[in-house]
Amino acid sequence: MPNAVDVDQTTQAFVPQEQEALLVVLPHPDDESFSSGGTLSLCADAGVPATYLCGTYGDMGRRMGNPPVANRESLRDVRVVEMRAAAEVLGIAVEFLGLRDKCVEFEDADDLAARIASYVTTKKASTVITFYPGFGVHPDHDAIGHATVLAVRSLPPRERPLLLGVAVTGADAARAGLDGAKLGEPEVTVDISAVYKRKIAALKAHNSQTATMFAQWVNVWDPETLEELPGAPEPDAQTIAWRDRLTKRERFYVLDPDARTLRE
Ligand SMILES: [Zn+2]
Repeated sequence: MPNAVDVDQTTQAFVPQEQEALLVVLPHPDDESFSSGGTLSLCADAGVPATYLCGTYGDMGRRMGNPPVANRESLRDVRVVEMRAAAEVLGIAVEFLGLRDKCVEFEDADDLAARIASYVTTKKASTVITFYPGFGVHPDHDAIGHATVLAVRSLPPRERPLLLGVAVTGADAARAGLDGAKLGEPEVTVDISAVYKRKIAALKAHNSQTATMFAQWVNVWDPETLEELPGAPEPDAQTIAWRDRLTKRERFYVLDPDARTLRE
């Protein structure tokens, strides 16, 4: 078993230029920018077709913007417009599965897997990114991750893409009773420092969801670059971890599609 000292040796590089196509399958508008906005941008810049297959319209979200830019009725339309703007910033295509927000866990997993598998095949995806089932913290995250594992499993082994999982770690995972340490270190690290401003711009395009987050940081960092302001208070460890995720690196676990997920 690798230990912490071996982390660098076990980390696999993800080379966008070597990809045929990238497909990201997550449930909500903004999940793509948080988890893989840098990786998507790097693929787009390398001329690799990159698609976000977005499960829902995010219309049950509790955030409405700061100040509010939507209400319960208009949130769906607002988030679709924001999603298309974020996709434009990242240079990717976006397609919606049209599932009901906050209800993905009630979908028939095999039916959903069949729909996702058809996208994997049509898009000729060489890599698929989804949530690590059981470590997504949100039921929609775990459900779409599980269905995506089933989708890849349903393909003949030679046609299967590399399957990467996003695990929610840190304080959010701790609150949900998940121990990131059980997973060890992610095997794949993508250096996003060359494109992080695009990731931040894409997150800002999801204004109804992210305005509060950026407002919290306004006295600590330059809001455009997230670089520390002179004389700013020392950020806490959680804030620094956030900044690393947004500006330095995206990390993924390699998922074995034949291994039982935590939902089986
Ligand atoms: Zn989400």
